[in-house]
Amino acid sequence: MNLILLGPPNAGKGTQAKKLYADFHIPQISTGDILRKAVKDGTELGKVAGPLMASGQYVPDEVVIGIVEERLKEPDVAQGFVLDGFPRTPGQADALDRMLARLGKKLDAVISLEVPHAKLIERGSGRRVCPNDGSVYHVTQSPPTRAGYCDKCGAALVQRPDDMPEVVEKRLQKYDTETAPLKHFYAGKGLLKTVDGVGSPEGIYEEIKAAARKP
Ligand code: AMP
Repeated sequence: MNLILLGPPNAGKGTQAKKLYADFHIPQISTGDILRKAVKDGTELGKVAGPLMASGQYVPDEVVIGIVEERLKEPDVAQGFVLDGFPRTPGQADALDRMLARLGKKLDAVISLEVPHAKLIERGSGRRVCPNDGSVYHVTQSPPTRAGYCDKCGAALVQRPDDMPEVVEKRLQKYDTETAPLKHFYAGKGLLKTVDGVGSPEGIYEEIKAAARKP
């Protein structure tokens, strides 16, 4: 199963991609995760991407397109993949079409998670992450046992710079102008399925599975 999870920042794409992996062993390809790792490791890619990410800008198309093409060549995506956070622009969507054709793959569905803006801002502003092991918490929805500290390793939790309210606003604006139009692009190809992204992660996951299976 080859899927795209489309949706604004904090829509829950990452959570759902992990569930799909647990059930179907189709790897999550998250350009955001790959870029965050590059920033943490201090690589050349990380030096380019870091300041853009921290201010809510997009990383240039040619950079993320190259990352995804390399990843799609790995043997573990032979049985399928879930793209999370890519494509984000019309240029990326066109490039994806071309690279999938070159690799002899095709998309089965593009699932758009629909969540109102106010909810997205609330999710972002309450999120805390462990800088050590990547665990993710939310101050009210899924708080750690000891406020401010990771349950698994005890490290002090931090707020990602791109979860700051003013950056979230900017990312949402960018999503609306540059990424949301991709829904029309994929609807035109008969691939778009919309799913309500408000509710329990388990319920949303069931909806996603049903949508992905629908012809
Ligand atoms: P995400 O975790 O998917 O929300 O991505 C975090 C940040 O990484 C975004 O706000 C962008 O700065 C950058 N990023 C991730 N994926 C892309 C992409 N496909 N195109 C451009 N920038 C991206």
